[in-house]
Amino acid sequence: MKITGDQQLIKKMNKGIVLDTIRQMQPLSRADISAAIGLNKATVSSLVAELIDSQLVTEIGPGESSGGRKPTLLLFNKQAGYAVGVDIRVHDLLVVIVDLEGHIIREQSTPLADYTTESVTNQIKSTISKICVDLPATPYGVIGIGIGVPGLVDETQQVVSAPNLGWNNFDLAGHLQQELALPIYIDNEANAGAIGEKLYGAGLHTSDLVYLSIGVGIGSGIVVGGQLYRGTSNFSGEVGHMTIAENGPLCRCGNHGCWETLASEKALLDQAAAIWGEQVSTIEEVLAKVEEGNSQAVTLLNEIGTQLGIGLANLVNILNPEMIVIGNRLSLAGKQLEQAMLHSIKNRSLSYHRKKTQVEFAKLGIRSTALGAASMPITAFLADSDVSVQAEA
Ligand SMILES: [Zn+2]
Repeated sequence: MKITGDQQLIKKMNKGIVLDTIRQMQPLSRADISAAIGLNKATVSSLVAELIDSQLVTEIGPGESSGGRKPTLLLFNKQAGYAVGVDIRVHDLLVVIVDLEGHIIREQSTPLADYTTESVTNQIKSTISKICVDLPATPYGVIGIGIGVPGLVDETQQVVSAPNLGWNNFDLAGHLQQELALPIYIDNEANAGAIGEKLYGAGLHTSDLVYLSIGVGIGSGIVVGGQLYRGTSNFSGEVGHMTIAENGPLCRCGNHGCWETLASEKALLDQAAAIWGEQVSTIEEVLAKVEEGNSQAVTLLNEIGTQLGIGLANLVNILNPEMIVIGNRLSLAGKQLEQAMLHSIKNRSLSYHRKKTQVEFAKLGIRSTALGAASMPITAFLADSDVSVQAEA
């Protein structure tokens, strides 16, 4: 393959590399950047000057000198703008505003009034406009919105199917874009959660990671070599419908014995309801029973942990991941089901495959998806390093 490029393109690429280096290694000097990426100091200085002009990089006081004048250190200006992250969950809508390093500035969760496309779209718009009121001024303001959807999202950002919301073929981005006039990025909630944990959470230093979103169902986001594995139609990761028990419970997909009928939050709550009736309807109530030493509750969590481990053993054998992160609602019971889960993985996976695999619970708790969603506009914004404050004015 012949690769061509002009000077403008090369300059843009180099500027992106300089910005990435500052974000990853800050604080550092121009000489440090030059040494890290092998560009000469004059080129680095000129690119840094442009980044300072566009307010994406700031200078701070001098660092350690290795002899001679102390160098000025550079920082990424995480306060150059904001991004909005939205997680459409089955029970509520979580909206966060973050700085450009993914730190939460504001957060709001509101119960979903109903699941119609119109109502949810309106609720997203009104929550975003409420949460953005009187945000402190920044050079770029809100740079975009990312949304995690509990369903299938194709490569054109169409929501093809979201069974828990009753949505089919809905252009959520198009509807929002009409009024909000900001870049909008939409992805499956488990993919967004995987990116959230990779960039800001448990998977910070990993490049091969499986993130499991366990709530009503079980979805996954699979990161391979630092990138999401998307599959040919963007629909990869539906691990919840792996068959675990040939004659197991009927799944909403029509199959019997899918993993999510045995190891999801819903499986836990269905079994809790069979034991205690309507008295126990939340995971927190089951955990309270475990705290009291209720033996049925302990057995129930051990059983869910065992079933969870069976599916995880399959994933370990197939993908040999560096890390598995268990996120969404079931992670709240992490401590109580961990032992049975690890036991099951150990008994059922191949020893060479699991040797280096770490199993963690989501570090971002139930915010993995919202934060991963917010990272989508940030990544796109920073990749376009020709952005300039003047252009926005
Ligand atoms: Zn199924």
